[in-house]
Amino acid sequence: MSSSQRVSRFSDRCLDSFPIHHQELVQVPLARFRFRCEEVDSVYRSEVSGSLPARWTDLLDAIQYPPKDEDLWTDVSQWADFFGVLGHCAVCGGDLVPADSFAEAVIDYYELDGDEADQASEAIERALWSSGIETEGTVCSHCSDVMSRD
Ligand SMILES: [Zn+2]
Repeated sequence: MSSSQRVSRFSDRCLDSFPIHHQELVQVPLARFRFRCEEVDSVYRSEVSGSLPARWTDLLDAIQYPPKDEDLWTDVSQWADFFGVLGHCAVCGGDLVPADSFAEAVIDYYELDGDEADQASEAIERALWSSGIETEGTVCSHCSDVMSRD
């Protein structure tokens, strides 16, 4: 997938469908707007779930060995958003992907249990920690760096 084909965030697309003019806003029943949002959301979710590898081991590979022309950050953020575990830096609003919640969501999504679930949880968390993706705290490392210098 090239970067131009990437799906934008749900919230952006939902806002795009929001009536721009006040007049129009009044004319659009809330239920219809909600419906449009749900429609956008379901398209977004099916696009994102389509970008998720078929097996958790492939997801692990994608995190550990991202293809050079792919933006790992974007993929992982989108998946985290899809799983409902995406967090944001309290200062700059940048994406944060909590490794433990992400790993749990992967286990749920791929319906893993027993040893395989344990193995997946450990491997996914470790892969995220070493991927350079922001995985912990409420502030990203850039912001906490800047704050510690002030
Ligand atoms: Zn930040």
